[in-house]
Amino acid sequence: MDHTKINLLVKLQHLDNQIESIVSLQKGLPEEIEALDEDLVFTSRQIEARKKRADEQLKQRASLHEIINECKNKILNFKEKQTLARNNKEYDALSKQIEYEEKEIALAEIKLQDIAQAVQRAQEIQKKGQQLIVENRYDEISEEMMPDDVLQQQLADLKKQADQKKEELDGIVIETAEDVNALKKQVKAQRDLISREAQRLLDKYDHLRSGTLRNAVVKLNRNACSGCNTRVPTNRHTMIVQGGFYLCESCGRIVVHERLFEEAE
Ligand SMILES: [Zn+2]
Repeated sequence: MDHTKINLLVKLQHLDNQIESIVSLQKGLPEEIEALDEDLVFTSRQIEARKKRADEQLKQRASLHEIINECKNKILNFKEKQTLARNNKEYDALSKQIEYEEKEIALAEIKLQDIAQAVQRAQEIQKKGQQLIVENRYDEISEEMMPDDVLQQQLADLKKQADQKKEELDGIVIETAEDVNALKKQVKAQRDLISREAQRLLDKYDHLRSGTLRNAVVKLNRNACSGCNTRVPTNRHTMIVQGGFYLCESCGRIVVHERLFEEAE
């Protein structure tokens, strides 16, 4: 059996392990940042929706006040005309027009009241939210209960946290970029070498690592595969000690003597 081929693969695993350990310095920061960004989008949308609703109400109110003013002016005009009416028929016709404008005003006022009530209702719901916050009953707070100022504060806090985490991650990435790039070059060279010498071993390695598993080549530890702790049959120990490899029957990993990893370093 040609043991130099397995040595080449152990070296590759050693290099990949080094990259893994550098990447693990990022301590889950990319995932944390992603979660924070999602919360940020959610909170921003809530704030935007509220602003849009408030703007809409403001616009509606302005236009209703305008309608009321116009109606009032028309009524004044009609009343003036009534003083000059030449007969009852003319007078009654103007009365009808005044009546119509008064109805328009009443209608607009009802709509204004509806808006005022909606605003008040929203404020009361937020007050309830405020109370729940004071009582620490956060899980009972619905989206609309969240007070405006708390929502703004939440947005600011999330931004700050996300920025801090991004800065921390950038620092780590910059710090380690040189090492990672150097290792990646070594990995490529090693893979090229193995693909010429032992393509099937490389395929086996890649196949094992195609899922979440990172350690395709592992050490024999206390006569067991250190990947899954399954005992390695005694009759295979000699071959492993001599520098060969064993395919774990349980997890499929490539088991070698720890000496090979020491040699790879
Ligand atoms: Zn195993």
